[in-house]
Amino acid sequence: MTQVLGIDVGGTKMAVGIVDDSGEVTHSSIVPTPAQGTADDMWQALTSACDQTLDKAGHPELAGVGIGSAGPMVWPAGEVSPVNIPAWRGFPLRTQVQEKFPDLDVRIHNDAIAMTAAEHWVGAGRGYANVLGMVVSTGVGGGLVADNHLINGGLGNAGHIGHIVVDPNGPECRCGGRGCLEAIARGPGTVQWAVNQGWLPGDRPADGRSLAEDANAGDEVAIAAFTRAGEAVGIALASCAALLDLDIAIIGGGMVQSGDLLMVPMQEAFDRHAGLGFARRMKIVTVGLEQEAGIVGAASLVLQGENYWSPPGEQGDRIIA
Ligand SMILES: [Zn+2]
Repeated sequence: MTQVLGIDVGGTKMAVGIVDDSGEVTHSSIVPTPAQGTADDMWQALTSACDQTLDKAGHPELAGVGIGSAGPMVWPAGEVSPVNIPAWRGFPLRTQVQEKFPDLDVRIHNDAIAMTAAEHWVGAGRGYANVLGMVVSTGVGGGLVADNHLINGGLGNAGHIGHIVVDPNGPECRCGGRGCLEAIARGPGTVQWAVNQGWLPGDRPADGRSLAEDANAGDEVAIAAFTRAGEAVGIALASCAALLDLDIAIIGGGMVQSGDLLMVPMQEAFDRHAGLGFARRMKIVTVGLEQEAGIVGAASLVLQGENYWSPPGEQGDRIIA
């Protein structure tokens, strides 16, 4: 049995696990991200989670290490600058992990891309050749599998569905553009829109959970906020389905926990905007894997390397071969 260490680095938690070649996580550790700490605090927390996991598992022989990290990053070198981890700016994460595991192959990709790989391999996308994975949360991220191969793009950024323009007159986006899906549908953007329309959270935090509570209780502004976000996602998905002839779109992230509030207007917008038969056939589902998707996806960069790992150099070699 082949085993790989999977590492998932996010703004709120870091998860490490041993993943076998069937996609099972056999041992894992999850630690909160010391996101306001120093770069070294972050690194110490991550390495102790790695050590804990390896201790629990009895230090098995590993075939490699896979990392999924919040971006942006320089890829495949793996210098990361996660938006929600201010202490890491150009942090050489892949190199540091390589120094900790000098004899192992260490591979890294964007966390939404890793999640897409996991869902394609052993999650809701199993058996489908053309998959869009997306995360609708604080930001909106995504990844692509086409013809059963993970797509990198020129600099490793293919699948950035969050920055597809869905409303040319929409709000400014954190990326510098305007009217991006992320600017409209991300959780904080949805809450802010509701506040601007007069929604009051009372003594609860002004967050997606409070907004969903009120929407479920019939608050019209709260319902409209989720409808607006869902419609924006559905419009973006219609464009993606037409561009890529996708079989399935798999959606995760905090906003999806609002259930039908988001998913129904999303599907309705998709049905309105996707006209071509091949595009309309795309299924839209929620994620099949829970918290472990990040670890499994990271490990799959090694375990499913022939499908998921083709950095620029090797891609060139493969074309020549
Ligand atoms: Zn943008």
